[in-house]
Amino acid sequence: MVISQPQQKAKIGPTKLLINNEWVESSSGKRFETINPATGEVICDVAQADALDVDKAVIAARTAFTSGDWPQMSATKRGELLYKLADLIEKNIEELARLETLDNGKPLKDSLNADLPLTIACYRYYAGWADKVQGKTIPINGPYFCYTRHEPVGVVGQIIPWNFPLLMQAWKLAPALAMGNTLVLKTAEQTPLSAFRLGELVMEAGFPPGVVNILSGYGPTAGAAISYHNDIDKVAFTGSTEVGHLIMEASAKSNLKRVTLELGGKSPNIVFADADMDAAVEGSHFALFFNQGQCCCAGSRLFVEEKCYDEFVAKSVERAKRRMVGDPFIERVEQGPQVDQEQFNKVMSYIESGQQDGAQMLCGGSRVGDRGYFIAPTVFADVQDHMKIAQEEIFGPVMSIIKFKDIDELVKRANNSIYGLAAGVWTQDVNKAHTIAHRLRAGTVWVNCYDVFDAAAPFGGFKQSGIGRELGEYGLQQYTEIKTVTIKM
Ligand code: ADP
Repeated sequence: MVISQPQQKAKIGPTKLLINNEWVESSSGKRFETINPATGEVICDVAQADALDVDKAVIAARTAFTSGDWPQMSATKRGELLYKLADLIEKNIEELARLETLDNGKPLKDSLNADLPLTIACYRYYAGWADKVQGKTIPINGPYFCYTRHEPVGVVGQIIPWNFPLLMQAWKLAPALAMGNTLVLKTAEQTPLSAFRLGELVMEAGFPPGVVNILSGYGPTAGAAISYHNDIDKVAFTGSTEVGHLIMEASAKSNLKRVTLELGGKSPNIVFADADMDAAVEGSHFALFFNQGQCCCAGSRLFVEEKCYDEFVAKSVERAKRRMVGDPFIERVEQGPQVDQEQFNKVMSYIESGQQDGAQMLCGGSRVGDRGYFIAPTVFADVQDHMKIAQEEIFGPVMSIIKFKDIDELVKRANNSIYGLAAGVWTQDVNKAHTIAHRLRAGTVWVNCYDVFDAAAPFGGFKQSGIGRELGEYGLQQYTEIKTVTIKM
């Protein structure tokens, strides 16, 4: 554990709601606290939106969608605004990275080298797409001229989680804006701060009033108001599978708004004995522990071939013991705190259940320090498929290593999950790599690498890991409606 006193701080930006390009208090006047997970202390409080504020934001977004500058604006100009926003984020990269680390607890090094560059790249990528999406002319039967138009869906509600606040905001905002939608975004209650600072940059870039509205608030109130709203045309959600079910239910019970979901995972990460063992150990360590284990695609079912199992386990334990936990503002720290007390408790209860179920805990398993929500990197070996730690999403720094022998059996076991978000394969046999990649039921398969994200590569889940894809050209489809126009000649 590395601690520096006093903890380095970040500059706090706006803490009110952004509606129609104005910072406003919530209608109720209520505010709630956001906590520094490294200390457990309050950073500041922020406005607490509820249904009434969602209504106001939707009215602003609807007005901006139907009148004013936005619907008149050329696609090229929309792209230019997105490029400008990307430039402004880049200009303020250090400040935004500090704010993200303060509110979320992730190492500053990660905010600076992963979250922020990926955020900027995402805005630039979709800026380029803004004027490159086009319909088709279709040779239908008869004396007709038929063509399609790709139009924006309309007012989009977007609900994001706390694990990558800025990046998830970019994944939602960038394609929606590129395609000409307007939006109401709700941040996670744990991490509202960086989104508001980004809101300032959205205005500085020159987006017209009402196009981007940003609310902080709780899920069952503000989030539910978005998912039930009759004047929201689509909801894009990233979060737990449990809430994903609620979002779909809300759509069914209201106006059948379009729903895209990026949900939980319990991703198999498979290591064959013919893999480059050191690369597989380091890659699997990263696949699980990156972002304090708080990744929906974490390689949290680590299947290792029997022939190399003992060697792999020994090396993985040695690596986990070396993982530097501490104040996320310190350069050499690899792991900060979990995001809040609730997540801390949840992860600790999974560690307890792993022990009770008879898995072998080879390191970690305890709190680190006496304040904040730090958990020691934990490795379980001899994990069996039926154990809770092998089935449920832990969302913390807990590695579960499972043994396998036969390939067909392995594929069956790897696919035996309600989830299907991602998977990893480590082997030097190219035939095996492709064969396994094709047989796994997952939205993304990484071979001899993990967590390689790029704005151009689609991401999303099979099964209960979600519906639809984000990023890449596929991500645009979620923000367009197709209109068919047929003209008699
Ligand atoms: P986690 O359990 O990791 O916090 P959640 O799925 O609960 O993940 O939260 C992800 C996002 O969903 C957050 O912005 C949260 O406020 C929101 N949310 C939670 N409950 C609901 C709900 N009932 N309706 C809409 N949004 C919700």
